[in-house]
Amino acid sequence: MDHFLYRDGVLHAEDVPLAEIAEAVGTPFYCYSTATLTRHFRLFDEALEGMDHLVCYAMKAASNQAILRTLAGLGAGMDVVSGGEYMRALAAGVPGERIVFSGVGKTRDEMRLALEGGIRQFNVESEPEMRALSEVAVSLGVVAPITVRVNPDVDAKTHAKIATGKSENKFGIPISRARAVYAEAAALPGIEVIGIDVHIGSQLTELEPFRQAYQKVADLTEELRAEGHDIRRLDLGGGLGIPYTRSNEAPPLPTDYGALIRETLGHLGCEIEIEPGRLVAGNAGILVSEVIYVKEGEGRDFLILDAAMNDLIRPAMYDAHHDIIPVVEPAPGVEQTPYDVVGPVCESGDTFARGRMLPPLAEGELVAFRSAGAYGAVMSSEYNTRPLIPEVLVNGREFAVIRARPTFDEMINRDTIPEWL
Ligand SMILES: *Cc1c(COP(=O)(O)O)cnc(C)c1O
Repeated sequence: MDHFLYRDGVLHAEDVPLAEIAEAVGTPFYCYSTATLTRHFRLFDEALEGMDHLVCYAMKAASNQAILRTLAGLGAGMDVVSGGEYMRALAAGVPGERIVFSGVGKTRDEMRLALEGGIRQFNVESEPEMRALSEVAVSLGVVAPITVRVNPDVDAKTHAKIATGKSENKFGIPISRARAVYAEAAALPGIEVIGIDVHIGSQLTELEPFRQAYQKVADLTEELRAEGHDIRRLDLGGGLGIPYTRSNEAPPLPTDYGALIRETLGHLGCEIEIEPGRLVAGNAGILVSEVIYVKEGEGRDFLILDAAMNDLIRPAMYDAHHDIIPVVEPAPGVEQTPYDVVGPVCESGDTFARGRMLPPLAEGELVAFRSAGAYGAVMSSEYNTRPLIPEVLVNGREFAVIRARPTFDEMINRDTIPEWL
């Protein structure tokens, strides 16, 4: 459920008509709903009720300061994957003890940053990384709390680019080698082992892969405890999928996911961390765009929008489907026709949908891409020197620009000219 609904024939974000925002900020723009963000975060928090837990929002899904502040205000921790994200979390008021540092290639500079600023734990992904972290911690006179990310070799049954839990993926250490790695960790002077981490991929639409992974983590917890490691925290990653089409998809709900965690891991008495990103932000955001032209092609019409692949790359990158709906509600029973929905960028890859059935649309009309809140704005670029599009946050009847569209001068003046030119 989200808060983007037709009211009086016009699509609203909560209580604000989208045409009003378009008027104020111009198109295209991203628009997020506070109520949806809040609802999704709470679903996870409530799903783990009764267990010692922390929901660490994976901020790479959508990392605007206003979104982070909204979630931090609800008690969220943050999962970060770079020094930049770590600084974003601090800037949004999240204390270091609620920030988890994930990622396969943390640099020594990033480690230093987090050790100095405060960190809940590092999720370590390799032995070389673990040794480097120990050295950095020792040089600062501190001890780094870690989990080791294990790769459980399960098939997440998701798109190849976002599957991370098979042995051929670059993530984590093979679970078969875990005991040796933990033995080495225990001997390193700058490291304190506190738990185990696992994250098997994104946009998972079944619980079964989670079950397989979490059972392996449960077994490993007991083995490691038997060898004297104080395993007291389990970080279970993110990855729960969202429905990208209204019609037939029904991914598992956070409550079912929470029940699975309780069932597979509840008996261990560990503190539980989860790192949802997409499910918190995905359906809490839309992308609103204007039809520039309707171009008649051979056998198909092209709907040319003012949004493009640089603004929303998921269709080009992951063959992702986004529902596209007109901002003005179509009359009931209106006949739909197939359109190829494209942007203005000079690549055939700049295609959002082919043969998409839509009601008739004309120049100047607005459309909304649903489910664009996660991996949307954060993956945008200025390709074709197109300005990054504004982000707007709605809260009831209020809305605010939370990232403004840069001017052409601002974009150009970021370049500097060498003195020989
Ligand atoms: C991307 C990522 C997440 C979030 O995944 P979602 O599918 O957005 O929930 C969580 N943890 C790690 C380590 C990640 O890389």
